[in-house]
Formats: sequence, C-alpha cells, structure tokens
Amino acid sequence: MERTLIMVKPDGVQRGLVGEIMSRFEKKGLQLAAAKFMKVSQELAETHYAEHKGKPFYDKLIVFITAGPVFAMVWEADNAIALTRAMIGKTDAVEAAPGTIRSDYAVHTNLNLVHGSDSAENAEREIALWFAPEEIV
Ligand code: ATP
Repeated sequence: MERTLIMVKPDGVQRGLVGEIMSRFEKKGLQLAAAKFMKVSQELAETHYAEHKGKPFYDKLIVFITAGPVFAMVWEADNAIALTRAMIGKTDAVEAAPGTIRSDYAVHTNLNLVHGSDSAENAEREIALWFAPEEIV
C-alpha cells in the first residue's frame, strides 16, 4: 500500500472544489488516511517547494500558496502516487487530458487547484512535512 500527499491549493478552496476533489479520489477507491484545513506558513511553503527555488515562478508560487487556506490530505492505495497524478492531470491546464481535475476545472498553470506528490521519495518527505505521525490514521 502506497501513500501520497494531496493538497487542494488556495484557488481550489476559494472556488469550493474541496468536496469535488475528495469525491473523485473516494469514488476511485483510494482510502483517506489524514486530512486538515490549514493556512500554510512561509516556512512550510519554502520547504515544500524547495526544489523550485530560483525558478522564475518561485516567488509568485510562495505568495500564492500562503495567500489562503489549503486542504491537505494523505491518500492510500496501491500505486497511489501514479494514480492520483493521472487523475490530477498535467501541470499546464492546456496539456491536461480531458477528464482530469486540472482539465475539467483549471485554466492557468499557476492556478492549478491541487498538488500531488510526484515520487515515492517526495511523498514520504511531504507527508512528514505536512502531518505529525499521530494525525495519520
Ligand atoms: P504540484 O507540485 O503543485 O503538484 P506539478 O507537479 O504538476 O504541481 P511542478 O512542476 O512540481 O508541477 O510545479 C509546482 C507548481 O509550480 C505548479 O503546480 C504550479 O503551481 C507552479 N508552476 C510550475 N511551472 C510553472 C510555470 N511555468 N509558471 C507558473 N507556475 C508554475
């Protein structure tokens, strides 16, 4: 069984898409292992997106992710990382396949509604960063 960190970003929360996004993962058959509604500190944002430091979009990305509350979750399934990445769709909404979350609901690359861990290594790092062990069921 594999675990992944999924986060509905501030644009997804503001647009009222938390329930819709959770519903897609539930209906697919993944198991929810943890969830919380929270504001992202500057420190958490910078640690989470450390790999993008120095890129042209980095500063805006940090401002965006700390601008409003997010809904962070841990989901569990065989191949949870690949499954949820496929359901989320490509970063650029234009390239995201029809039926994916980003294709169905997002217009912009920088307002792309949802984050999902992209590797087993990052999933482990991100889950430990966002959740205390006792918050995970
Ligand atoms: P995420 O990590 O949020 O799940 P992702 O894995 O699809 O998204 P990454 O390449 O890891 O994409 O980029 C992280 C985030 O940085 C993107 O989700 C997007 O919000 C922002 N981003 C990436 N590339 C660009 C870009 N060219 N212009 C603006 N924002 C970008």
